[in-house]
Amino acid sequence: MSRANNPKLKSWIEVKTGSDFPIQNLPFGVFKTDDRSARAGVAIGDYILDLSALAKAGLLDSINFDKKVLWQKTLNDFIALGKPITNAVRERLSDLLNIDNAEMKNNTELQKTVLVKQSDAQMLLPVHVPNYTDFYSSREHATNVGTMFRDPKNALLPNWLHLPVGYHGRASSIVVSGTPIHRPKGQTKADDAENPSFGPSKLLDFELEVAFIVSKETELGSSVSTQQAEDHIFGLVLFNDWSARDLQKWEYVPLGPFLAKNFGSIASPWIVTLEALEPFKIESPEQEPAVLPYLQFDGQKNYDLHLQVDIVTGNGVSKTVSNSNFKYMYWNMCQQLAHHTVNGCNIQVGDLYASGTISGPTPDSYGSMLEISWQGKNPVAMPDGTERRFILDNDTVVIKGYCEKDGVRIGFGECSGKILPAK
Ligand code: CA
Repeated sequence: MSRANNPKLKSWIEVKTGSDFPIQNLPFGVFKTDDRSARAGVAIGDYILDLSALAKAGLLDSINFDKKVLWQKTLNDFIALGKPITNAVRERLSDLLNIDNAEMKNNTELQKTVLVKQSDAQMLLPVHVPNYTDFYSSREHATNVGTMFRDPKNALLPNWLHLPVGYHGRASSIVVSGTPIHRPKGQTKADDAENPSFGPSKLLDFELEVAFIVSKETELGSSVSTQQAEDHIFGLVLFNDWSARDLQKWEYVPLGPFLAKNFGSIASPWIVTLEALEPFKIESPEQEPAVLPYLQFDGQKNYDLHLQVDIVTGNGVSKTVSNSNFKYMYWNMCQQLAHHTVNGCNIQVGDLYASGTISGPTPDSYGSMLEISWQGKNPVAMPDGTERRFILDNDTVVIKGYCEKDGVRIGFGECSGKILPAK
């Protein structure tokens, strides 16, 4: 395990109790301010360490790579350098921020050039996403949806326990946390109506997901094994895959969701590296029946990552509607990537692969309003006296996530998105 993960490490930068960004995290993102163009940064406490300024000051000279990758609008070229370089950068930053290291700690002039308050910065989507795939890997979610729309006795379709079901999503409409989305319009058809009608979606929903970002490409025709998969994954972000359930119900046969999903998905701005998450690995749910050999894996591949969803109304009234966990995933990321590439499909740097809605075993851990309100039958009471079956105009959905162990909390920051009225 990386020495940067040592729970005993402390930074000379103040990290408040409950902060998502202690010295053991060091997630990568892209930010800009009024006087700094878009560039790479790393979160520490309430600050961002400006990696381009750090490189200009010569503090990354010990690691041999073209520092130009640090002042670009995306991290694609940086993460494509590969784990030996990106992990060396993470460990160097850990040293520079360490309370026992004087290189930056005692140089207040340098600190002014390399530290930016997060509150003064605007976060950007951290990577250009060439391809987006959405899986459907939570057994509880697939069971809930199958129970609602098909047959409770045969909720899972015959393929579900044999392969990680997925589909190709839309990359162009993935946006960073804080980006509002207009309520989508489209065709819907009520069960008792003869013909479809057109208008704004009435059943707009969030999907609580975690997504991984690929940093090592493959050539067309080659595959990634479950054993190799982690070498291709840079890190994780929180993800809200906005979904219009009424559009979805009418359009999805036979090729799956289309306009119900492609109008917007929200990603959190900080990519938490797989290396920072290493201490939080846990066993996966048992897979029965046994999976085919190309989907078998060794070791722990799931993560104990707490997830929370809040709805904040237009008036600022907030309610937590779900407490879930990434550990519930039946199919892990290594299996997803192995399955995705087993036919020779090539993957590209910046590709984003979402888990699918993450639901736990109990209603308070469901990852969508479809399940929480059970198709609208059990509305959620909000503190202001209103009810939510699905998401209303001017509601903001906020996803948060963190791992915690041995006094170290590795957080993701926020994945937040507001719904504006239809255009
Ligand atoms: Ca989804």
